[in-house]
Amino acid sequence: MRILLTGAAGFLGSHISKKLVESGHQVIGLDDLSTGSLNNIEHLMGNKNFQFIEHDVRIPYEVKVDAILNFACPASPVAYQKDPVRTIETNFLGMINLLHLANKTGARVLQASTSEVYGDPSVSPQNESYWGNVNPIGIRSCYDEGKRAAETLCFDYKRQYGLDTRVIRIFNTYGPNMSIGDGRVVSNFIVQALKGEPISIFGEGQQSRSFCFVSDLVEGIYKTLTLNESPSTPINLGNPNEFKIFELANVVKEITGSKSEIINSPLPQDDPKQRCPDISFAKVILNWEPKVQLREGIEKTSEYFKKKI
Ligand code: UDP
Repeated sequence: MRILLTGAAGFLGSHISKKLVESGHQVIGLDDLSTGSLNNIEHLMGNKNFQFIEHDVRIPYEVKVDAILNFACPASPVAYQKDPVRTIETNFLGMINLLHLANKTGARVLQASTSEVYGDPSVSPQNESYWGNVNPIGIRSCYDEGKRAAETLCFDYKRQYGLDTRVIRIFNTYGPNMSIGDGRVVSNFIVQALKGEPISIFGEGQQSRSFCFVSDLVEGIYKTLTLNESPSTPINLGNPNEFKIFELANVVKEITGSKSEIINSPLPQDDPKQRCPDISFAKVILNWEPKVQLREGIEKTSEYFKKKI
């Protein structure tokens, strides 16, 4: 397939670019480099099946492709809250522009949605039929509501124009190619531990997340892209093994052999108390489940950051 991938230089985009090119596809990778980095895709530059174009998805981009994968948006709360108007514009205008393009070209569309559409969930684990608990005017809503609106657009284009749209809801994912200053918990803790700086737990660390290693996620994404038919609902992709944040801090300290102290600071506004994917649907429709468990993934990610630092 000839594929347009937005966010191609980002953490996930760079891994997906590699997977697509290795699987024999031709990739046109867009990125505005607001949080992504050309270092992440250095190894693909010069490959005849990979073309990089610096572009902001809020502006339409015309190209004839068979598939469009939309991974353009900062995903770290720190990054997406820096310029919230730009974040919601990226999600909403970016999605509209890509769906217009798909309508013209007949391309299938795979939208990177997020577990953040569930907000601060009142049920656990979260399955795809849960509508979520999102504050529409809070500091996270530029991302949460932006992604929710993008999902709406995908399903309206499917119903109204018969477009082939596929939506995945990505739960917390980590691994190489996250930037040192990403701001999300796994990279923060590993970088702090390796530098011997205090490990910053927000709140008491009793909140939970379920962490998926990037290679597992990329397999799930590829399986969704290559499904024969577009699924009738979004698909949760994540690792259902749930950890409290203080447990993560201890695993990171142990694996890095760090003597860093742990410090607690106030919990940010609207920080979800729990998050855990129900992946029954992905298991059935994609024959997929994560293989890499937390310790192995943290080891691999620590090796990456050791070299970076
Ligand atoms: N967190 C933390 N210390 C950090 C960064 C994050 O304790 O240095 C907490 C954060 O408050 C949240 C969880 O870790 O409860 C996951 O945060 P992250 O920013 O990785 O992503 P989120 O799941 O909130 O989107």
